Amino acid sequence: MLDLEHKLKQGFNGELRFNEPMSEHTSLKIGGPAEVMAFPEDPLSLRNILFVAKEEGLAVHVFGGGTNLLVSDKGIKGLAISLKAFGSIEAVHSRTSSATESADEESEEQDVTLFVGSGVPLAKLINYARKNGYTGLEALTGIPGLMGGAVYMNAGSFGTEMKDVIVSVAIMSKEGHLIILEKDKLNFAYRTSGLPDDSLILSANISLKKDEPEAIEKRIKEYMAKKKDAHPLGGLSAGCIFRNPEGNYAGRLIDNASCKGMKQGNVEVSTVHANYFINQGGASCSDFIKLMNSVREKVRQSSGIMLEPEIHIVGEV
Ligand SMILES: Cc1cc2nc3c(=O)[nH]c(=O)nc-3n(C[C@H](O)[C@H](O)[C@H](O)COP(=O)(O)OP(=O)(O)OC[C@H]3O[C@@H](n4cnc5c(N)ncnc54)[C@H](O)[C@@H]3O)c2cc1C
Repeated sequence: MLDLEHKLKQGFNGELRFNEPMSEHTSLKIGGPAEVMAFPEDPLSLRNILFVAKEEGLAVHVFGGGTNLLVSDKGIKGLAISLKAFGSIEAVHSRTSSATESADEESEEQDVTLFVGSGVPLAKLINYARKNGYTGLEALTGIPGLMGGAVYMNAGSFGTEMKDVIVSVAIMSKEGHLIILEKDKLNFAYRTSGLPDDSLILSANISLKKDEPEAIEKRIKEYMAKKKDAHPLGGLSAGCIFRNPEGNYAGRLIDNASCKGMKQGNVEVSTVHANYFINQGGASCSDFIKLMNSVREKVRQSSGIMLEPEIHIVGEV
């Protein structure tokens, strides 16, 4: 281990933690230790540890806020990477758009392009946009996690998805190559960016429009109220567990299969929103998986539909 630590530290700015409990890095508070967890502070440090990981045959797992993840009780073999230090937001371009010219010669819209580091919490980005009078993100209010995770998952709610604002995404491959992908080179779809599995998102450029901060704030409050009404935001969860099947809602199917309130160990199917499973304290990944399997089977029996997980499962289960 000492030899590995020595190699990982070469040309590396940031923190390295060994046997790091992943339960401290997931919203579910579930997950055994990662062999090594690295918090690089710049792209060069990231590239250097990726080289060591390759040389040493270490599997690489990248984490955002851990709000869509279920990590094995056995933990993670290899290297877990957090890019939370990649936390800057900068306006890179602002222009007056002609979008409204034909409708109304008087009114002018301003587009802005923001550079957003993958470690920026989505909530912080939405707040930045509100303060500066940029609209486009309000419907994503209440989605936890970081920018990198939101882009990778194409996070969305109330009809808006990350892809609606993306201009381009900067990634580093696990080989250490830096690549900028324009939006038309990405295959965004429901809860996926279509990025190759070996992509580490460093940042994204997004395009927003100018609006009055008060109007933006009003919409944020409305979306937050709607989300609070329908989702158990207070408990330890990972958001929706299963993907919505085409033309249906996983939550509705789970509810119709009478699974609300079902329990396995300390994990419960939420009584507020059936597609949320809540860790009631000290729950294990294996109980979580057992409950997922029981719910899937009950839904299959009642509707003939086999639900597919939306959460990402990491490590051996
Ligand atoms: C209470 C609650 C409410 C939620 N509501 C919603 C909702 O309304 N809509 C919605 O879409 N989701 C929702 N979610 C799920 C989750 O918050 C989103 O999917 C979020 O965007 C995930 O971001 P994260 O940073 O936590 O990613 P993580 O959970 O850390 O990772 C998710 C996936 O993205 C990958 N990833 C993360 N960062 C990077 C990176 N920099 N480069 C490459 N890959 C990366 C990970 O490897 C993993 O496969 C909710 C979750 C909770 C707990």
